[in-house]
Amino acid sequence: MKSVLSGTMDLKTDLATEINSPRRYQLLRRKIVSLMALVTILPLLSLAGINYYEHQNTMASEIQAPLRALVGKAKHSFELFLAERTSAVSFIASAYTFDELSSDTNLQRIFQVMRREFTGFVDLGLIDTAGNQISYAGPYDLKDRNYTSQDWFHQVQFKGTYVSDVFLGFRKFPHVVIAVRHTTESGQSWILRATLDTMHFDRIIAAMGLEPGSDAFLLNRGGILQTESRRYGKVLGMLPFALPPTNFESNVQALRDDQNREIFLASAFIANTDFALAAIKPRPTVFSTWYTVRADLLFIFVSGVIVIFLAVYRLTSALINRLQHSDEQRMGAIHQMEHSQKLSSIGRLAAGVAHEINNPLAIINEKAGLMRDIMDLRPEFPDKDKFSRQIDSILRSVDRCRGITHRMLGFAKRMDVKIETLDLNSVLEETLGFLEREAQYRNVEIRRNLVPDMPSIPTDHGQIQQVFLNILNNALAAVPDGGRITLTTWDVDENFVGVSIEDNGCGMSEETAKNMFEPFFTTKKEKGTGLGMSITYGIVKRLGGELKVQSKLNEGTTMTILLPKKSTEGQA
Ligand code: ADP
Ligand code: MG
Repeated sequence: MKSVLSGTMDLKTDLATEINSPRRYQLLRRKIVSLMALVTILPLLSLAGINYYEHQNTMASEIQAPLRALVGKAKHSFELFLAERTSAVSFIASAYTFDELSSDTNLQRIFQVMRREFTGFVDLGLIDTAGNQISYAGPYDLKDRNYTSQDWFHQVQFKGTYVSDVFLGFRKFPHVVIAVRHTTESGQSWILRATLDTMHFDRIIAAMGLEPGSDAFLLNRGGILQTESRRYGKVLGMLPFALPPTNFESNVQALRDDQNREIFLASAFIANTDFALAAIKPRPTVFSTWYTVRADLLFIFVSGVIVIFLAVYRLTSALINRLQHSDEQRMGAIHQMEHSQKLSSIGRLAAGVAHEINNPLAIINEKAGLMRDIMDLRPEFPDKDKFSRQIDSILRSVDRCRGITHRMLGFAKRMDVKIETLDLNSVLEETLGFLEREAQYRNVEIRRNLVPDMPSIPTDHGQIQQVFLNILNNALAAVPDGGRITLTTWDVDENFVGVSIEDNGCGMSEETAKNMFEPFFTTKKEKGTGLGMSITYGIVKRLGGELKVQSKLNEGTTMTILLPKKSTEGQA
């Protein structure tokens, strides 16, 4: 019994701490929700991430491939254009002798043919190895010039052919120089130098068919623009950011320009020159299609996440609520069980005591009766009246003791309950009769608030009296001198009648209110037994009623009893 009790006690305290802390359920709910959300949203998130990444990559390569091809083609056009011009100059240099070329009229004639066959030539000049301009055909007066101090002269001596950077000529128009050195078998060598305007460069770039926002231009190795750029400046301006590593194969890189725009840049060197061709596409226009796709995807993703989250939350909440509810029910059941266990052990104890006392009481009763009989048989018995009174007193006391043991047995359910139809108002008045003297003495006001046509109910007179007595006793003990006790009865509904006993006494702390129905729980030290309320509770329950307590420390207590209008003894 003891171990069972302590077992349920442990369980009870465990449950009590759980039920007393709604935080635990909150925590549990939060844990489950976040775990489930994580488990469902994480794959979705990674799927979306991979999708995004893949899409980005495909889009990038879809952009990069055409850009690369575009630059490749334009590079080829530039190379072809320059190679043709270089070959033409080279052909003239080797097809004629130095003497033939030295004559201005000859050179003029050759130049005319050349201009007819090839666009872009501006002038043509013959220079000897000492750097002297021997003859010249063209719009400028360059005769008798010496070029030994100029860089291009040394380069062409060294390399055989040379294409210069773009420069603004006398006509303030961008030009390039093509120079070719020719050496005969006899070892004589000369240099033929032609100037080209770069209009054709612009034509090649225009032929690339760039979209608005895109850009393409030629650069030299120093980063100086050789053609005009839509965005980064005019001819001979400096490109405002460094060209990424470039080689002769056209390749694409993603980077940020000086204005921090994200761009794709394709670039390639032009063979036999110092030029690099670059084409640029800004990234946002590149990805505009992806942005619209992404908005749809984002919407689906976000609403999916919301739906999942809501579902998870609703489900978890329902689950947790069920859990909390069943925990509370279990707690209540355990509480009830524990209480009835205590009550029944008290009941057994009381029954045992009552039973033990009943035997000596019977003997006392019998012996006292016998004494009276003996006395009656002897007419000469001295002080007969005196003795008779004493014996009567003994018999009355025995009777009272019997009443008490009878009630104790009743508490232990061993006694038959005698059900009568009773008017609770009058039982209450009757019980009050026992206490009225003390109340008067202590100047305690008793207020009656009794419903006049209170329906009579079937119940046990002795037991209901004990219930009232116990509660009134406590109320009287709780109020100070001059306090107030209010008795109320009312017809609750078709099933119950109600009696409440209210006092404006010391009231109870929460702790006391929780324990007041426990057997032997008392706050009155030696003066209290702690049995009143546990017995009362047992009786009310057995009669099929309800006992409720409302109490506030230092303000007062209201005990409410609800009793059934129909006897439930059969069920109980
Ligand atoms: P006892 O009266 O012998 O102490 P009870 O079982 O009748 O035992 O009551 C248990 C405890 O409940 C009391 O000790 C008291 O602390 C508290 N109690 C009961 N009724 C009242 C009341 N009306 N006002 C204040 N406290 C009360
Ligand atoms: Mg009491």
